[in-house]
Amino acid sequence: MKQRSHLLQMLHAKGIVLKKSLGQNFLSDPNILEDIVRCARVTAEDTVLEIGPGAGTLTSVLAEVAKGVWAVEIDARLIALLEERFQGRTEVRIIHGDILKLNLDELFTSMREQGAATSPIKIVANLPYYITTPILFYFFETYTHWQTMTIMVQKEVAERIVAEPGTKAYGHLTLARAAYARAEMCRHVPREAFFPIPKVDSIVLHLTRYPTSPFADHLSTYQKLIRLAFHSRRKTLANNLRQAYPHQRTDWGAWLERLGYPRDVRGETLRAEDFYRLAQAFDEEHD
Ligand code: SAM
Repeated sequence: MKQRSHLLQMLHAKGIVLKKSLGQNFLSDPNILEDIVRCARVTAEDTVLEIGPGAGTLTSVLAEVAKGVWAVEIDARLIALLEERFQGRTEVRIIHGDILKLNLDELFTSMREQGAATSPIKIVANLPYYITTPILFYFFETYTHWQTMTIMVQKEVAERIVAEPGTKAYGHLTLARAAYARAEMCRHVPREAFFPIPKVDSIVLHLTRYPTSPFADHLSTYQKLIRLAFHSRRKTLANNLRQAYPHQRTDWGAWLERLGYPRDVRGETLRAEDFYRLAQAFDEEHD
Protein backbone atom coordinates (compact mmCIF):
# COMPACT_ATOMS: atom_id res chain seq x y z
CA MET A 1 0.00 0.00 0.00
CA LYS A 2 1.46 3.31 -1.17
CA GLN A 3 0.12 5.35 1.77
CA ARG A 4 1.39 2.90 4.36
CA SER A 5 4.90 2.89 2.90
CA HIS A 6 4.84 6.71 2.84
CA LEU A 7 3.89 6.71 6.54
CA LEU A 8 6.65 4.23 7.35
CA GLN A 9 9.18 6.29 5.39
CA MET A 10 8.26 9.45 7.29
CA LEU A 11 8.71 7.67 10.62
CA HIS A 12 11.89 5.94 9.50
CA ALA A 13 13.43 9.21 8.28
CA LYS A 14 13.06 10.62 11.79
CA GLY A 15 14.19 7.40 13.45
CA ILE A 16 10.82 7.09 15.19
CA VAL A 17 9.81 3.70 16.56
CA LEU A 18 6.18 3.83 17.65
CA LYS A 19 5.41 3.48 21.35
CA LYS A 20 2.72 1.10 22.53
CA SER A 21 2.63 2.92 25.85
CA LEU A 22 1.32 6.06 24.08
CA GLY A 23 -1.35 4.16 22.13
CA GLN A 24 0.45 4.81 18.86
CA ASN A 25 -1.50 2.83 16.25
CA PHE A 26 -1.49 4.93 13.11
CA LEU A 27 -3.82 5.11 10.14
CA SER A 28 -2.83 5.52 6.52
CA ASP A 29 -5.78 4.25 4.42
CA PRO A 30 -7.22 7.34 2.66
CA ASN A 31 -10.71 5.79 2.48
CA ILE A 32 -10.86 5.42 6.25
CA LEU A 33 -9.43 8.90 6.86
CA GLU A 34 -12.00 10.41 4.51
CA ASP A 35 -14.80 8.44 6.16
CA ILE A 36 -13.80 9.88 9.55
CA VAL A 37 -13.90 13.42 8.18
CA ARG A 38 -17.23 12.73 6.46
CA CYS A 39 -18.66 11.29 9.68
CA ALA A 40 -17.47 14.45 11.50
CA ARG A 41 -19.35 16.57 8.92
CA VAL A 42 -16.50 19.07 8.92
CA THR A 43 -17.08 22.11 6.72
CA ALA A 44 -15.07 25.19 5.73
CA GLU A 45 -16.75 27.03 8.64
CA ASP A 46 -15.38 24.72 11.32
CA THR A 47 -12.34 24.80 13.54
CA VAL A 48 -11.21 21.32 14.51
CA LEU A 49 -9.42 20.19 17.63
CA GLU A 50 -7.53 16.98 16.94
CA ILE A 51 -6.21 14.88 19.81
CA GLY A 52 -3.05 12.93 19.00
CA PRO A 53 -2.24 13.83 15.37
CA GLY A 54 0.59 11.28 15.26
CA ALA A 55 2.29 11.61 11.87
CA GLY A 56 -0.46 13.94 10.63
CA THR A 57 -2.33 11.67 8.22
CA LEU A 58 -5.79 12.55 9.58
CA THR A 59 -4.68 16.16 10.25
CA SER A 60 -3.84 16.57 6.60
CA VAL A 61 -7.30 15.39 5.40
CA LEU A 62 -8.97 17.60 8.03
CA ALA A 63 -6.93 20.63 6.94
CA GLU A 64 -8.22 20.20 3.37
CA VAL A 65 -11.78 20.93 4.47
CA ALA A 66 -11.73 22.82 7.79
CA LYS A 67 -11.13 26.50 8.42
CA GLY A 68 -8.42 25.54 10.90
CA VAL A 69 -7.02 22.53 12.75
CA TRP A 70 -5.48 22.66 16.21
CA ALA A 71 -3.67 19.42 16.96
CA VAL A 72 -2.40 18.41 20.41
CA GLU A 73 0.35 15.77 20.47
CA ILE A 74 2.23 14.50 23.51
CA ASP A 75 5.24 12.92 21.76
CA ALA A 76 8.06 15.41 21.10
CA ARG A 77 9.52 13.20 18.33
CA LEU A 78 6.25 13.55 16.39
CA ILE A 79 6.10 17.29 17.03
CA ALA A 80 9.27 17.71 14.97
CA LEU A 81 7.80 15.62 12.16
CA LEU A 82 4.46 17.48 12.26
CA GLU A 83 6.08 20.91 12.27
CA GLU A 84 8.03 19.98 9.19
CA ARG A 85 5.03 18.42 7.47
CA PHE A 86 2.78 21.44 8.03
CA GLN A 87 5.39 24.16 7.70
CA GLY A 88 3.85 27.28 6.15
CA ARG A 89 0.30 25.95 6.61
CA THR A 90 -1.15 28.68 8.78
CA GLU A 91 -4.46 26.84 9.14
CA VAL A 92 -2.70 24.04 11.05
CA ARG A 93 -1.49 24.68 14.58
CA ILE A 94 0.58 22.03 16.31
CA ILE A 95 0.56 22.05 20.12
CA HIS A 96 2.99 19.99 22.16
CA GLY A 97 1.20 18.75 25.28
CA ASP A 98 -0.73 16.13 27.18
CA ILE A 99 -4.42 16.60 26.39
CA LEU A 100 -5.35 15.56 29.93
CA LYS A 101 -3.12 18.25 31.45
CA LEU A 102 -4.12 21.12 29.20
CA ASN A 103 -6.59 23.61 30.57
CA LEU A 104 -9.37 23.02 28.06
CA ASP A 105 -11.25 26.18 28.98
CA GLU A 106 -8.14 28.19 28.08
CA LEU A 107 -7.49 26.17 24.94
CA PHE A 108 -11.05 26.62 23.64
CA THR A 109 -10.93 30.33 24.53
CA SER A 110 -7.73 30.80 22.49
CA MET A 111 -9.26 28.86 19.61
CA ARG A 112 -12.21 31.27 19.69
CA GLU A 113 -10.02 34.37 20.00
CA GLN A 114 -7.86 33.34 17.09
CA GLY A 115 -10.31 33.01 14.30
CA ALA A 116 -12.90 30.58 15.51
CA ALA A 117 -15.06 33.17 17.22
CA THR A 118 -18.16 32.30 15.28
CA SER A 119 -17.19 28.97 13.85
CA PRO A 120 -18.23 25.79 15.61
CA ILE A 121 -15.51 23.74 17.27
CA LYS A 122 -15.51 20.08 16.31
CA ILE A 123 -13.31 17.50 17.99
CA VAL A 124 -11.93 14.76 15.77
CA ALA A 125 -9.52 12.06 16.87
CA ASN A 126 -8.20 8.60 16.44
CA LEU A 127 -7.88 8.37 20.22
CA PRO A 128 -5.02 6.79 22.12
CA TYR A 129 -6.95 3.83 23.59
CA TYR A 130 -5.19 3.72 26.95
CA ILE A 131 -6.85 7.00 27.97
CA THR A 132 -10.14 6.98 26.03
CA THR A 133 -12.37 7.15 29.10
CA PRO A 134 -10.48 9.94 30.93
CA ILE A 135 -10.43 11.97 27.70
CA LEU A 136 -14.18 11.54 27.26
CA PHE A 137 -14.90 12.63 30.81
CA TYR A 138 -12.53 15.58 30.44
CA PHE A 139 -14.41 16.75 27.35
CA PHE A 140 -17.83 16.16 28.91
CA GLU A 141 -16.85 18.66 31.62
CA THR A 142 -16.25 21.31 28.95
CA TYR A 143 -19.13 20.29 26.71
CA THR A 144 -20.45 23.80 26.16
CA HIS A 145 -17.32 24.68 24.14
CA TRP A 146 -17.63 22.06 21.40
CA GLN A 147 -20.37 21.06 19.04
CA THR A 148 -19.51 17.54 17.96
CA MET A 149 -16.93 14.90 18.80
CA THR A 150 -15.97 12.29 16.24
CA ILE A 151 -13.69 9.66 17.68
CA MET A 152 -12.18 6.36 16.75
CA VAL A 153 -12.39 4.11 19.79
CA GLN A 154 -12.03 0.46 20.59
CA LYS A 155 -15.17 -1.43 19.45
CA GLU A 156 -16.07 -2.52 22.99
CA VAL A 157 -15.86 1.07 24.29
CA ALA A 158 -18.08 2.30 21.43
CA GLU A 159 -20.62 -0.35 22.37
CA ARG A 160 -20.58 0.89 25.97
CA ILE A 161 -21.09 4.49 24.89
CA VAL A 162 -24.21 3.75 22.79
CA ALA A 163 -25.62 0.78 24.76
CA GLU A 164 -29.29 0.15 25.57
CA PRO A 165 -30.51 -0.57 29.13
CA GLY A 166 -30.47 -4.22 30.13
CA THR A 167 -27.47 -5.12 27.96
CA LYS A 168 -24.03 -6.14 29.19
CA ALA A 169 -22.40 -3.06 27.67
CA TYR A 170 -24.81 -0.65 29.41
CA GLY A 171 -23.34 1.22 32.35
CA HIS A 172 -21.65 4.26 33.77
CA LEU A 173 -20.10 5.38 30.48
CA THR A 174 -23.44 5.10 28.60
CA LEU A 175 -25.22 7.17 31.23
CA ALA A 176 -22.42 9.72 31.57
CA ARG A 177 -22.56 10.32 27.82
CA ALA A 178 -26.37 10.54 27.88
CA ALA A 179 -26.15 13.67 30.04
CA TYR A 180 -24.25 15.56 27.35
CA ALA A 181 -24.62 14.17 23.86
CA ARG A 182 -26.36 11.91 21.38
CA ALA A 183 -24.15 9.17 20.00
CA GLU A 184 -24.18 7.29 16.73
CA MET A 185 -21.83 4.74 15.21
CA CYS A 186 -20.40 5.72 11.83
CA ARG A 187 -18.26 2.80 10.76
CA HIS A 188 -16.35 -0.25 11.80
CA VAL A 189 -12.57 -0.23 11.26
CA PRO A 190 -10.76 -3.57 11.27
CA ARG A 191 -7.55 -3.86 13.28
CA GLU A 192 -5.52 -4.50 10.10
CA ALA A 193 -6.10 -0.88 9.06
CA PHE A 194 -3.65 0.33 11.74
CA PHE A 195 0.12 0.31 11.96
CA PRO A 196 1.16 -1.47 14.08
CA ILE A 197 -1.88 -3.81 14.21
CA PRO A 198 -3.57 -3.61 17.63
CA LYS A 199 -5.36 -6.49 19.37
CA VAL A 200 -8.82 -4.96 18.91
CA ASP A 201 -11.16 -3.67 16.19
CA SER A 202 -12.41 -0.10 16.26
CA ILE A 203 -15.49 1.98 15.61
CA VAL A 204 -15.81 5.60 14.53
CA LEU A 205 -18.38 7.30 16.77
CA HIS A 206 -20.06 10.66 16.30
CA LEU A 207 -21.32 12.54 19.37
CA THR A 208 -23.55 15.59 18.98
CA ARG A 209 -23.78 17.54 22.17
CA TYR A 210 -27.07 18.85 23.51
CA PRO A 211 -27.35 22.66 23.57
CA THR A 212 -27.64 22.30 27.35
CA SER A 213 -27.54 19.10 29.34
CA PRO A 214 -31.10 17.75 29.79
CA PHE A 215 -30.02 16.91 33.33
CA ALA A 216 -28.37 20.27 34.09
CA ASP A 217 -30.60 21.03 37.09
CA HIS A 218 -29.45 18.01 39.08
CA LEU A 219 -26.28 17.10 37.20
CA SER A 220 -23.93 16.48 40.10
CA THR A 221 -26.40 14.16 41.88
CA TYR A 222 -27.15 12.38 38.58
CA GLN A 223 -23.40 11.83 38.16
CA LYS A 224 -23.09 10.57 41.73
CA LEU A 225 -26.02 8.15 41.30
CA ILE A 226 -24.86 6.67 37.99
CA ARG A 227 -21.38 6.15 39.48
CA LEU A 228 -22.61 4.40 42.59
CA ALA A 229 -25.26 2.37 40.70
CA PHE A 230 -22.50 0.55 38.81
CA HIS A 231 -20.03 0.45 41.66
CA SER A 232 -21.02 -3.14 42.29
CA ARG A 233 -22.89 -4.13 39.19
CA ARG A 234 -24.38 -7.26 40.74
CA LYS A 235 -25.81 -5.44 43.75
CA THR A 236 -29.25 -3.85 43.76
CA LEU A 237 -29.40 -0.06 43.56
CA ALA A 238 -30.69 0.06 47.16
CA ASN A 239 -27.63 -1.86 48.35
CA ASN A 240 -25.28 0.39 46.44
CA LEU A 241 -27.04 3.43 47.94
CA ARG A 242 -26.75 1.96 51.44
CA GLN A 243 -23.04 1.42 50.92
CA ALA A 244 -22.51 4.91 49.49
CA TYR A 245 -24.40 6.64 52.33
CA PRO A 246 -23.61 4.54 55.43
CA HIS A 247 -24.63 7.32 57.84
CA GLN A 248 -28.10 7.87 56.43
CA ARG A 249 -30.94 5.91 57.98
CA THR A 250 -33.02 5.98 54.77
CA ASP A 251 -34.72 2.70 53.78
CA TRP A 252 -33.54 2.90 50.17
CA GLY A 253 -35.74 0.00 49.02
CA ALA A 254 -38.82 1.84 50.30
CA TRP A 255 -37.55 5.10 48.78
CA LEU A 256 -37.31 3.45 45.36
CA GLU A 257 -40.76 1.88 45.72
CA ARG A 258 -42.23 5.24 46.62
CA LEU A 259 -40.84 6.58 43.35
CA GLY A 260 -42.39 3.72 41.38
CA TYR A 261 -39.44 1.34 41.04
CA PRO A 262 -39.06 -2.20 42.41
CA ARG A 263 -37.14 -2.17 45.70
CA ASP A 264 -34.61 -4.60 44.25
CA VAL A 265 -34.11 -2.71 40.97
CA ARG A 266 -30.60 -2.79 39.49
CA GLY A 267 -28.96 0.15 37.79
CA GLU A 268 -28.56 -1.72 34.53
CA THR A 269 -32.33 -1.72 33.91
CA LEU A 270 -32.85 2.01 34.51
CA ARG A 271 -32.75 4.56 31.69
CA ALA A 272 -30.95 7.90 31.93
CA GLU A 273 -34.33 9.63 32.49
CA ASP A 274 -34.98 7.32 35.47
CA PHE A 275 -31.66 8.26 37.03
CA TYR A 276 -32.51 11.90 36.49
CA ARG A 277 -35.87 11.42 38.27
CA LEU A 278 -34.05 9.77 41.15
CA ALA A 279 -31.50 12.60 41.26
CA GLN A 280 -34.31 15.15 41.37
CA ALA A 281 -36.09 13.29 44.21
CA PHE A 282 -32.79 12.81 46.06
CA ASP A 283 -31.97 16.54 45.90
CA GLU A 284 -35.46 17.54 47.04
CA GLU A 285 -35.32 15.24 50.05
CA HIS A 286 -31.69 15.47 51.06
CA ASP A 287 -30.99 19.17 50.81
N1 SAM B 1 -3.97 10.57 14.51
C1 SAM B 1 -2.94 9.60 14.20
C2 SAM B 1 -3.48 8.58 13.21
O1 SAM B 1 -4.71 8.46 13.14
O2 SAM B 1 -2.69 7.92 12.56
C3 SAM B 1 -2.41 8.92 15.46
C4 SAM B 1 -3.44 8.25 16.34
S1 SAM B 1 -2.73 7.27 17.63
C5 SAM B 1 -4.06 6.13 17.90
C6 SAM B 1 -2.86 8.29 19.09
C7 SAM B 1 -1.95 9.49 19.13
O3 SAM B 1 -2.18 10.18 20.38
C8 SAM B 1 -0.47 9.20 19.11
O4 SAM B 1 0.16 10.06 18.20
C9 SAM B 1 0.01 9.49 20.53
O5 SAM B 1 1.36 9.90 20.62
C10 SAM B 1 -0.95 10.59 20.96
N2 SAM B 1 -1.16 10.70 22.41
C11 SAM B 1 -1.10 9.71 23.34
N3 SAM B 1 -1.38 10.20 24.56
C12 SAM B 1 -1.63 11.53 24.41
C13 SAM B 1 -1.97 12.58 25.30
N4 SAM B 1 -2.11 12.34 26.60
N5 SAM B 1 -2.12 13.83 24.82
C14 SAM B 1 -1.96 14.07 23.48
N6 SAM B 1 -1.66 13.11 22.58
C15 SAM B 1 -1.49 11.86 23.03
